[in-house]
Amino acid sequence: MTTLEDVRPKAVKAHECSACWGHIAPGETYHRVVFISWYGDLTVWKCCKACEDIRGLVAATVDHDADGFGHDEYLEWARDHEDDAEQGEAARAYLGRHNSFLPAVVSPVVRQQP
Ligand SMILES: [Zn+2]
Repeated sequence: MTTLEDVRPKAVKAHECSACWGHIAPGETYHRVVFISWYGDLTVWKCCKACEDIRGLVAATVDHDADGFGHDEYLEWARDHEDDAEQGEAARAYLGRHNSFLPAVVSPVVRQQP
């Protein structure tokens, strides 16, 4: 995996968060990573601030021998921790902004680096 860019720009236009499929509004600072995946695909990971803030919680539940993690792992973490005493609030907030109605053709599954 080769990282080509790892920046935190301010959005000029609306983007879609790769982790929750929600919107990143113009003016919002987000995390953008451009990399070549293990499969050789040019991949752009865009992540809203709120999802970036819970990255560590999700990462702790992921097997890092795997090829990174993304939307599916975020969603699985949120569903598993919805009633958790410490992480429940963050999990419910994720589920609240999660856009499950976005068609997959519009939102290709993007995986974050391990
Ligand atoms: Zn997000």
